[in-house]
Amino acid sequence: MSDAHLQFPDLKYLLDKLQFKPEEGKIWLAEQRTVLMGLGALSSFRKEIITSMGMERGKGFFMRLGYYSGMRDAELARKLNPDATPDQAFLTGPQLHCLRGMVKVIPLVLEYDPDKKHFYAEFEWVDSFEVEICRMSLGQLNEPACWMLLGYACAYSSHFTGLDIQFREVECRGQGDHQCRIVGKVATEWPDHEAFSHFFREAPLIDELYELQSRIADLEQTLGYPEDIPKALGEAPPFTSALEMIDRGANADVTMLLIGETGTGKEVLARRVHSMSTRKDGPFVAVNCAAIPPELIESELFGVEKGAYTGATQSRKGRFERADGGTIFLDEVIELSPRAQAALLRVIQEGELERVGDDHTRSINVRIVAATNEDLAAAVKTGRFRADLFYRINAYMVVIPALRERQNDIGLLAEHFRKRYEKQYRKVTLGFTDRALAALHGYDWPGNIRELENAVERGIILTDESCSITEQNLFNVGWSQTPSVDPKTRKLNQSSGQLESHKPNELLLASLTDQILYNEISISDLEAALINKATEKAEGNISAAARLLGLSRPALAYRLKRQDEDTNTEAEKK
Ligand SMILES: [Zn+2]
Repeated sequence: MSDAHLQFPDLKYLLDKLQFKPEEGKIWLAEQRTVLMGLGALSSFRKEIITSMGMERGKGFFMRLGYYSGMRDAELARKLNPDATPDQAFLTGPQLHCLRGMVKVIPLVLEYDPDKKHFYAEFEWVDSFEVEICRMSLGQLNEPACWMLLGYACAYSSHFTGLDIQFREVECRGQGDHQCRIVGKVATEWPDHEAFSHFFREAPLIDELYELQSRIADLEQTLGYPEDIPKALGEAPPFTSALEMIDRGANADVTMLLIGETGTGKEVLARRVHSMSTRKDGPFVAVNCAAIPPELIESELFGVEKGAYTGATQSRKGRFERADGGTIFLDEVIELSPRAQAALLRVIQEGELERVGDDHTRSINVRIVAATNEDLAAAVKTGRFRADLFYRINAYMVVIPALRERQNDIGLLAEHFRKRYEKQYRKVTLGFTDRALAALHGYDWPGNIRELENAVERGIILTDESCSITEQNLFNVGWSQTPSVDPKTRKLNQSSGQLESHKPNELLLASLTDQILYNEISISDLEAALINKATEKAEGNISAAARLLGLSRPALAYRLKRQDEDTNTEAEKK
């Protein structure tokens, strides 16, 4: 330490560059804006980084943090000492480290010859702030701990000298040595210089995560989903009690009737019945009776013999024969033609059927799970559905609640579908915004689970990668178009028409329109009558009347104004 060239220059010239401007909320070190930050916060931060990224990654992260700072200080050092010898100018870096309060640096050896491109240096670090951080939050490490300081030393030296210089911390108190000491050389003089330089390359974690994620998705696709028993998600009491009924009845081999609105998941539940029964290894056949034309339903269900009718060019099995030994799910069973109803009754009572156009009786062993979203008892009264068949299939009846009756399950199901569609569309979102969640809960889901699933799928499609799913993404509604939406009775009657929260009773609407047309009531009279009635009911409150009519307030106000004008014009004419 007798070398005069290893003495730091007077600190004053550096201190002059340090300016505290509390009235501006700023601290300047020459041109760099600087902040004062406590060691406690840095220490917690380091611990968190290491816990979430692991030691190696964390180390690179902090070495790069030091690196960026060393790079800027090299620029500063060159500017500050235009006339000093290269050695003396170089020492500004270690001195800045001291000034920044990070460590006390004692130069041991410094050989720097710009002409010969020679560099060799040794420094001792006393009271490194990183050793202290280790003591505070990490404990003793198995390797040197002064990562930021080392990154700084590498960047500062390389940028100051224009050579590629690497330092190693050969001793560190963070790993139990008596002191921290670093040695710096031109990079190529270190045998492991290439591996070491990787620490200074950014290694974005997110790329690695995406890569992993897509590999998992591929794996899942090749494996398929071995779901023995279809999941029935839900915790709300009306649903869990229905599920309990289903699970109990599954093994009893009784004919089961599931009653519930469209989209409540009746087919999933029918599959569940099948999977939980002794028939689980047999076939499961699902038929939507409403989807088959009435004149074909008999042959579809019970099969047809060649020549039975024009077009029956060969004999074929019906769905019942295909389901032999297993379970058949008859959705919208109310749609069965009278002949098909009779044939179904025979299957249930006798366990036998005849194909259309055949007089050969075949015995059949099929468990029936029927479903309806209409009132079967009412259909019996009107003669649309056979009473004897009704009593046979109604023997074990389970009511599946509508989604709006299981409010608590909406979030659960939405999350379930989010995960499914994120996987399907290979996308990662940040989940639903609070407003989106509130909207999900505020809507009454006439289309039930299927509608919720569609909304979430649309939400995933419309949401950008790594963004949150907004209310607008879910409901695909431009709020600017519906300015006075009441969040409680929200109507999303956009032109898509799918998301009406108060779907009018179709039957009622059909009979009303018949009457209106029969009595030749004009649209304007109808509108005026509706508006008057709504205003009367809302006791003159325009906003409330607008809600009753499914209109925004301005839309109703406009119609009222137009009505007044029409009345005036009429009066003038007279
Ligand atoms: Zn150290």
